[in-house]
Order: sequence, then structure tokens, then C-alpha cells
Amino acid sequence: MATKIKSNYRELLTKTKDSIILSTIEGLIHWDMETMMPPEAIEQRSQQLALLSRIHHKMSTDPEISERLKLIQGSSEYDFLNQIERRNVYLINKSFQEQTALPEKLVEELARQESITVSSWKKAKAKKDFNIYKSDFQKLLELNKQKAEFLMKVKGSKSPYEALIDNFEPNMSIKTITNTFDTLLGGLKSLIDKIEAHQPKQSTKTKLSASITDQRKMSQLITHTLGYDTSSAIAGGRIDETEHPFTTGYYNDVRITTHYYENDVVSSIFSVLHETGHAIYEQNLNPEWQYQPVGSTCSYGIHESQSRFYENIIGRSREFWITFLPKIQQITPTLGQIGLNQFLQLINRVERSKIRTEADEVTYNIHIIIRFEIERDLFADKIDVNDLPDIWNRKYEEYLGVEIKDDSEGIMQDTHWASGLYGYFPSYALGNIYDGQILEALNQDLPEWRNQLSQGEIKEVNSWLKEKIHNKGNYYDPEDLIEIVTGNKLNPSLFIKYLTDKYNKLYRF
Ligand SMILES: [Zn+2]
Repeated sequence: MATKIKSNYRELLTKTKDSIILSTIEGLIHWDMETMMPPEAIEQRSQQLALLSRIHHKMSTDPEISERLKLIQGSSEYDFLNQIERRNVYLINKSFQEQTALPEKLVEELARQESITVSSWKKAKAKKDFNIYKSDFQKLLELNKQKAEFLMKVKGSKSPYEALIDNFEPNMSIKTITNTFDTLLGGLKSLIDKIEAHQPKQSTKTKLSASITDQRKMSQLITHTLGYDTSSAIAGGRIDETEHPFTTGYYNDVRITTHYYENDVVSSIFSVLHETGHAIYEQNLNPEWQYQPVGSTCSYGIHESQSRFYENIIGRSREFWITFLPKIQQITPTLGQIGLNQFLQLINRVERSKIRTEADEVTYNIHIIIRFEIERDLFADKIDVNDLPDIWNRKYEEYLGVEIKDDSEGIMQDTHWASGLYGYFPSYALGNIYDGQILEALNQDLPEWRNQLSQGEIKEVNSWLKEKIHNKGNYYDPEDLIEIVTGNKLNPSLFIKYLTDKYNKLYRF
């Protein structure tokens, strides 16, 4: 019964499995380039990557995929596929359409223009002058508009920019994000005013030092405490050191990196907390779905919600530090002087700043809202590239009350737009919004979780996240997953509520 559709489906999955395995190999080479590779090997590694990339492209645009898809989708036996199999077919089809949507010439032009634009962005940033890179940026933007037009057709998105957002947050509309961010912005602005009126005027952002050896021990302790194994004989994880921290890997081989600064121990503590959240998500994916599209993670925003859950909701909470501060004080005597309250105020300090990557948990989201509004208006042809620096500076003044003095601390601070990454920024703030809702659901299901955390116990929170989010893999689109887990549609007010509660406790306003 239904043997034909089942055999077509199996063939399709075999092809997909090869493609997923190839991605993990590419990931491993990238990891090696950042961590272990002797500098001389760069040429060799680039050739390996270029070859893999060619093979990968050929595999993922193989006409046989399209033939099998047609046979499956047009089959009278389609009803014999279960929901998971249908989701796999949907995801394979979507990815195939996207892979084959762009003309080869455009793909080549994009790749060439990206490297040109990144290098002129570097020059312009060093000279603090947007004009040096303006025309290259304009060219790359135009190519990305063309790309978005092609993608829009195969994805069925309402606009080119929406098609780009779909690469990171599948099926999320510009309208949903605009409404959500408008509410978020209003809530954040008044919360920031309140916090500023109550937190000590003098910056408590003094940096704490610790030797790199001690910081390495702390990282091991953090990963161990959170349930990401990096040091036992059967460990599925490891920590290495790179300029920019990241997570890479799949199922039982998930690796994180961090960066140690001798004069700033807090920096590596929070980067390890963050990357550990990403790693736990990857490790907890449903093993029955390994090498299937449904067995991958849901979206960039959901991924970010998991890293930020561990970094912020757990890692910046009083409950976590009640038992954890004495432990790291044992490792590093230099931290021995600091009290719990002082430490909590230091790691939760809110400051209006110009640079996104240095922003705190509250103001960070405003940096993202500004970028989203500009991207949206750029792709809708409402902004002339010549006006970009002024628009950027005005928004920073209006939303954050900071004055941008030059283009390198303004419009050119991030590499994303120079590297051709458009539609990516919203996911960062969406991750926080998801977290507000996930936390509310956790509070209802496990009302004791904060008490448990203050006794150093995190197992139940981990199991809850595993069951509700990690195990669901890519079975749902992000908005649907959030609605299923929390019972509510996307709603930024719960994130504002979480922040208000926390700062209320910290400063009693
Ligand atoms: Zn992240």
C-alpha cells in the first residue's frame, strides 16, 4: 500500500541527508579556520570550502529532487504521508525553490560585490566617512533588491523585503514585525526613563579582572552548571577561543567559542552563557529526526531566544548568582570583594549607548528597531542612500537620546549590510520577545523554577525547554511554535513585563 509514494519519499530524504551531512562538514572546516588552523593553511582551506560549496550547490539543485517532489505532491497516495513526512516535503520543496530561484549570473555578481563592499566598508569605517563606501553599498543593495524580487516570487511573499525576512524568520510578515516593534518601542522608552530615575547615577560599569586561566575554569563551570557537557569523557561539546564568539555543530557534536579579556571577566561569562544556550538547543533536537529537515532548528529568532534565555533570563537573575557568585569567587580571589547586589547592578546596568554590540538587555532592542525600520524603508524605496547617515542619526537621537558624532559609530558600525545580510536584524529582538512569552509559560508550568535556581538547580527548566522548544525542531514556523508553547500570539508586552519586574526588584520603583 502506498509503496510508490513511500519510496519516492525515502529517496528524497536520502538526498537531503547527504546535503545536511555536507553542511556539517562545511561547519567543521569553518570552525577549524577560526580556532586551530595554522595561518599558512588558509589557501588550502579556501580551496576545500570552494569545492564543497560547488558540490553542495549541485546536490541541492539536482533535478531529481524536483522530479521526486512532483511525483509526491501530485500523487493520489499523498494522504498516506503523516504530518512529519509532509512537513519534510514542504521544507525540502521550499529550500529547492529558493536554491533554484536565482539566475547564476546574479549569484556571481552578488558574491563579487559583497567582497568589494566589505573591503570598502572597512576602509570607510576606519576613515569615519560613509561617502567612501556609499556607491559600493548602493550597488550591493540594488543586487539584493533583485535577489529579493526573485525570492518573493517563489516564496509567495508580499514584498521583496518580506522574502528576505523569511530567510531568517519563516513566514513572518512586515506588518506583524512593525506592529510588534511599535508596541515594544513605546514600552521600552518609558521603562528606560523609569530605570534611569532609580539606578545609581554613577556608572557601576567598572570592569572586573581575572586571569585567563581562571576565566577558562569559570567557562567550564558555567557550561557544566547549565547542562552543556564540555569536559567529561563522553562530552558532546567543547569550548575554544576566537575573536568573535560563536556556536557550531549538530546533535552530539556542538562546539562553542568565547573570547577572554584579562581586564573584563564579565564579557566572557556572558558570551559563554549565551553560546551555551545556542548549544543546548542544538544538542536537544529530536534524535529521531536527525538528518531530516524537520530535525533542524526553527528559526534565527527562536535560536536567539534560547541563547538569550540562558544569558539573560537565567544569567542575569538574582536566583542564579545566589549560588554561582560564591563559586566563581572561589576560582578567582580578585572577585572576592564584590557583593551580590553590587554584582547584579553591574550586570544589569542600563545605559543609552551608540554601539549595538555593547548595549544592555533593555536598550539593545531599540538598536534593532532602528535597523529594521531603515531596512524596511530602503527596500520599499522610501529612503535615498544619500540620506542614510542623517536618518540613522535622527532615529538614534529620537529613540535613544544619543548623539552620533561620526559614521563609524553610526550607520557603519555593523558588518551586516556590507556583507549582504538583509532581513536578519529583526530576529535578534524577536528572540527577546519570544523569551518574554516563553518565560510566562514557564512560570505557569513550573512555578517553583526560581526557587530551584536559587538552590543551584536547573534540570527542570532544561527539561521544560527541551520538551516545549528544542524537541519540536523545525516542525512549526516560529509564530506557530510560540502560539503552541505559550497559548498566545506574538506579544511584546510580556517581555516588557519581565524587564519591569526585574528592574522593579533591583531598584524598588
Ligand atoms: Zn546568538
